[in-house]
Amino acid sequence: MSKRYFGSCCPDLFDAMHTPPNSFLRVEDSDVLFLTVGYNQTPQGMAWFDHAVIFCPFCGSQLQTKEEIQKKATSQT
Ligand SMILES: [Zn+2]
Repeated sequence: MSKRYFGSCCPDLFDAMHTPPNSFLRVEDSDVLFLTVGYNQTPQGMAWFDHAVIFCPFCGSQLQTKEEIQKKATSQT
């Protein structure tokens, strides 16, 4: 499966995805871009809270739609 390319809208998003060693922005295998919004330490380890990103947080470009995300989440092809 080819990963969709996120980060082409502006250099800020590109850098945010590629410069930090452990970026909080990540592309799932389902090709959906997620942003980690928080975490919690549990006895089983770290629990991460992720949200799918609709708009670029830096330039405001629409990156994906809720419909796209829903479709991708339900059909892993
Ligand atoms: Zn952008």
